[in-house]
Amino acid sequence: MRRIVLIRPKRDGRIFGKAPGSPYTLMRLASLVPDEIPVEIWDENLIDLPLDTLREGDLVGITSMTVTIDGAEQISRRAMQQGAGVVVGGVHATLMPEHTATFAHSVMTGEGYFTWQRLIQDFAADGVKGMKPFYSDETWAELDGIATISDRVIKMVNEQENYWTPYLEITRGCPRNCSFCTAIRVSGRKMRLRPIDEVVDEIERRGIKRFFLTDDNFGLNFTTDPDYCSRLFDALSKLDLHSWTCQSEMSVAKYPDLLEHSLSAHLDKHFIGFESVNPDNRRELGGKSKGVANSAEEAIHTIRETGVGVVGLFVMGFDEDTPATFQAMWDFIRNSDLDSISTTMLTPYPGTPFREVVEQEGRLLDVPWSHYDTAHVTFIPKNFTVEELRSAYDWLCRKTYSPTQIALRGYRSFRRHPLRLAGKKLFGSFSTDYGYRRTYAYRNAL
Ligand code: SF4
Repeated sequence: MRRIVLIRPKRDGRIFGKAPGSPYTLMRLASLVPDEIPVEIWDENLIDLPLDTLREGDLVGITSMTVTIDGAEQISRRAMQQGAGVVVGGVHATLMPEHTATFAHSVMTGEGYFTWQRLIQDFAADGVKGMKPFYSDETWAELDGIATISDRVIKMVNEQENYWTPYLEITRGCPRNCSFCTAIRVSGRKMRLRPIDEVVDEIERRGIKRFFLTDDNFGLNFTTDPDYCSRLFDALSKLDLHSWTCQSEMSVAKYPDLLEHSLSAHLDKHFIGFESVNPDNRRELGGKSKGVANSAEEAIHTIRETGVGVVGLFVMGFDEDTPATFQAMWDFIRNSDLDSISTTMLTPYPGTPFREVVEQEGRLLDVPWSHYDTAHVTFIPKNFTVEELRSAYDWLCRKTYSPTQIALRGYRSFRRHPLRLAGKKLFGSFSTDYGYRRTYAYRNAL
């Protein structure tokens, strides 16, 4: 084997000189490559891929998201033409292995910690001929000692120089089963926890001061394992961190003591999936949220009282939504005390119960995979025409991401912190809102 090349297809490109988030999954897979085999990570957000340098003896691994799968396909076909062996893994490959198999020698489904090493051995022994069509790993292995990021990879990626936001995983899985979410199919239903000393070791060796947790629902651990959270916060409070953020659900509001404890661990903000203010959508939300504006308002208030920030995540276009839901959403947003806001379009991702319904009812729209970016309408809605839903969503985004609203939310974040922290909080609120505005703006110039 000549070398292993791990590729992330382009999504955002560079923003003010750096790519938004580090290629965390590829960093972990690269760390599993034995030391004697050269390994490279090519991130198309950062560089023009030197595909012409690929040749026989190279093993190429491409990570796939549904929104970038067309780019992954192009890269894969070109790499195969050059004589390299190609495996495609990641979320889309896991959810649509048959589709992915049409343009790769191998498809890696599931988590890949063990199958990746098997594939490397197969390729080393017999080149492309040794590669099996599918490598499937759904063991949901415990996370102890798994895929520790190596010093070789840390040096190679140079996160400080190249990326705005380093990613980190502390827990994985979500037992909820929201009808539109891929989490249980990609990360498993059981919540798994990394040993705290491994988390600390990784943070220290990577030298990261800020990070965004990739955990699907870190906040659920407040309910399921408060002792783990408490020990984690104790350990992180001893580190020289600036801040970190996580994805959560509003049940964290029931644990003000843990929220206060998390502040000493430098936890800055919870990105909370409120999803909807329409109570009729309860069925779709896995028992997580009542979809009621009052309980969301209370939760936001309680969390912010502790000093922790809240970014509200909302999904529009459920079958029960009507034009009145958009007005209610806007009323909620402008009266809320949120630091930043994400409003996305419901998207029927492969492998989700929602897609099954939409498919059975013949409501999937024939659009390219690149439209699966949560800013496009990709199915025929129930209470709107496609055009009406698009316009209602545009109306909401224009209001939510107007410069005045972004400035107002920034000002609110600024005001609630002591002066020494206020500038940082203002920037945090602004940059998060700006990122969401940018996602929406891919489709519509604001
Ligand atoms: S709670 Fe969040 S991560 Fe869990 S299934 Fe629902 S949307 Fe997905």
